[in-house]
Amino acid sequence: MTRKRVVVIEGEDAAPEAMRPSVALLERWVPEIDWVHPPVGERGQELHGSLFPAEARDAIDASDATLFGSTSGPSSPALMYLRWGRQTFANVRPARFRTGYRSPLARPEDVDLVIVRENLEDMYMGIEGDIDTLSDLKLQSRTARRPLSDFEPGRYALKLITEAGTERVARYSFELARRRRERGRPGRLTCGTKHNMLPYSDGLFREVTERVAADYPDIEYNCLIVDDLAHKLVADSAAFDVIVLPNLYGDILSDAAAGLIGGLGLAGSGCYGADYAYFESAHGTAPDIAGKNIINPTATLLSAAMMLEYLDFAPQAQRLESALARVYEEGRVLTPDQGGSSSTTEFCDAVAAEFDRTSS
Ligand code: ATP
Repeated sequence: MTRKRVVVIEGEDAAPEAMRPSVALLERWVPEIDWVHPPVGERGQELHGSLFPAEARDAIDASDATLFGSTSGPSSPALMYLRWGRQTFANVRPARFRTGYRSPLARPEDVDLVIVRENLEDMYMGIEGDIDTLSDLKLQSRTARRPLSDFEPGRYALKLITEAGTERVARYSFELARRRRERGRPGRLTCGTKHNMLPYSDGLFREVTERVAADYPDIEYNCLIVDDLAHKLVADSAAFDVIVLPNLYGDILSDAAAGLIGGLGLAGSGCYGADYAYFESAHGTAPDIAGKNIINPTATLLSAAMMLEYLDFAPQAQRLESALARVYEEGRVLTPDQGGSSSTTEFCDAVAAEFDRTSS
């Protein structure tokens, strides 16, 4: 087995409390991985006078993947590099119910969907400004039927959708739907856009995805207006398989999907590019519970399982997921967000015991 190198960035607030015990488990279970901890955030600042020193960037470039804890700011430059620098365009966020998850749904058993969020474009390009700086463009509001200058003073944010950016995430999503069908899922892809109000930008996302759909006649495809999709996601969650969305809708609806199965503590995620991937839980840094050792590490461990699969350690990924599933099924050792009273450490110990049991 070839060795793999993984960069760990622990993140801030409560994130390191989930990350450290998760990495400790993986160190034991997958000895073929070399773990690298470059100085990022405050430690980078202390050692090299930079939140994201060259040493950290080089470590990422020399690695096979990064496991990233959530950031509230200091580790953001590293995250920006992992995303835009490494062109990780597909943010894959599964929401699969497991017995024992504290879902608010009456019948959550069949929820097993994946949201693929386009990860680089849309409203996340960071192009914002004052309306008056656009005056030379003489823009006109199609809906208000007035010149933009009528709305000064005020601010704007640019929504950017490109053909190439959409095509690659659409293709990725269809391929994912195919792989999932091999595991018994229906082979279904749903696209969500606001093409009625944004016929030009979201219209392009829809058009391109539809064009790619022609290459996948074996995948059942449809496109919903995203507000209709939001309603159906709650009312009929089990009907969905893979959902592809522009960045902002994907960000919002994947939190909603996590809510459907039992909360953000259960939401793993991976961000994939053509030649690199990083993995981080879909939740934030949970500052309100920092320092209490009660953050649910399930999202981090599920992200780690996605990473193991990406690195060709599929059997270990499967065992980790099964160990997690059994801990929830038993329901004796759960963190407070899932109605339990166990600590992060106790939960990780329970997962480790289950994992080890399957090897004996
Ligand atoms: P961001 O904007 O960075 O995504 P956020 O504002 O959505 O962050 P989160 O950090 O995701 O906020 O937290 C939202 C709520 O969910 C908080 O009350 C937090 O404690 C809780 N939460 C998030 N993740 C977990 C977890 N892994 N375990 C337990 N509670 C969590």
